Amino acid sequence: MTTATPGRFGRFGGRYVPETLVVALEELEASWIEASRDPAFQAEVDDCLRDFVGRPTAFTCAPRLSARAGGATIWLKREDLAHTGAHKINNTIGQVILAKRMGKSRIIAETGAGQHGVATATACARFGLACEVYMGAEDARRQSLNVFRMRLLGATVHEVDTGSRTLKDATNEAMRDWMGSVGETHYILGSVVGPHPFPTIVRELQSVIGIECRAQCLETLGRLPDAVVACVGGGSNAAGIFAPFVPDQDVRLVGVEAGGRGSTPGGHAAPLAFGSPGVLHGSLSYVLQDEEGQTADVHSCSAGLDYPGVGPEHAHWKDTGRVEYRVVDDADALAAFQELSRLEGIIPALETAHAIAASIQLAAELPAEANLVLNCSGRGDKDVQEVMRLLEA
Ligand SMILES: *Cc1c(COP(=O)(O)O)cnc(C)c1O
Repeated sequence: MTTATPGRFGRFGGRYVPETLVVALEELEASWIEASRDPAFQAEVDDCLRDFVGRPTAFTCAPRLSARAGGATIWLKREDLAHTGAHKINNTIGQVILAKRMGKSRIIAETGAGQHGVATATACARFGLACEVYMGAEDARRQSLNVFRMRLLGATVHEVDTGSRTLKDATNEAMRDWMGSVGETHYILGSVVGPHPFPTIVRELQSVIGIECRAQCLETLGRLPDAVVACVGGGSNAAGIFAPFVPDQDVRLVGVEAGGRGSTPGGHAAPLAFGSPGVLHGSLSYVLQDEEGQTADVHSCSAGLDYPGVGPEHAHWKDTGRVEYRVVDDADALAAFQELSRLEGIIPALETAHAIAASIQLAAELPAEANLVLNCSGRGDKDVQEVMRLLEA
């Protein structure tokens, strides 16, 4: 294992990977720097986000949810309206265009519940690249519809039978594939996690959310919002909406982790609240782990938040106090899921529902003239069956 220093966020981040991957990561970093300075790359990404993804996404007032909270006015940044129904496509489109530029013909990805796998398969279909997705066998069983979606989109899905047969095992397997195939293959990580330069690349590609949102606030409200709230799994939708507001010290930034069934080990997926610094999937961040450093089990009603790690930049934002992190449990998320549906006519993703519950709390703490922006990271079509099951239980 090497402990190089590039890509640090304070003491977090870095690149804790075997030597064989260092070359691939250095090539990726150089290509990214070159591409991000080339207006032609930015133009190709922007065109695709406009014509294929449907950006800019709407900025919607939520008057009935605001009245229910009693306090600040709540506004929704509508990533649920992006193609494939969530923010994940912003990252996969950008990385597929980058991979094409690097001359790669094959894309691999890891996926948990299947959302990142579907967004990757979608981008690969659009640009004609071969796509192989690693998914834990247990996840594939639970999310068989997403496995079928990926196959419809032309991807090959590899079910991973090792370990707990979930996301972290799929990520290990994807990294192993990449070590042996880096010449023709680009690995698309799905969140602001992993070794440098992934946390930076994914944050930059997701920052389109915050850049649009900041401009929409200035246009619609005539000023910046008082607070911005987003859910945190790996942390990409949150980093994407937060990053452009980080220099605006008066804008409160609030990240929301999954509190699951409560604070006992294995009952939640909140590494910033209950974890400790450790290395997971190639970078140093807060991790849920036992005394021996073994990654702990996690639980959340929402599959997209069910990850024992979190992006290293969030660890840094926590330690510096720039972002405040809260925890919302399964029961409050489930209630918020129903409230947004009934009060605003928008069925949100269960991940998003955690941010909704925290927004209701925070809006009530703020004065009536304040404005709170809630990042509506995804739509809830994928979750309605699970919610039906939970409500009947
Ligand atoms: C995957 C997902 C998340 C969690 O991932 P982040 O990287 O933390 O954004 C949140 N919301 C939705 C709708 C998702 O699909």
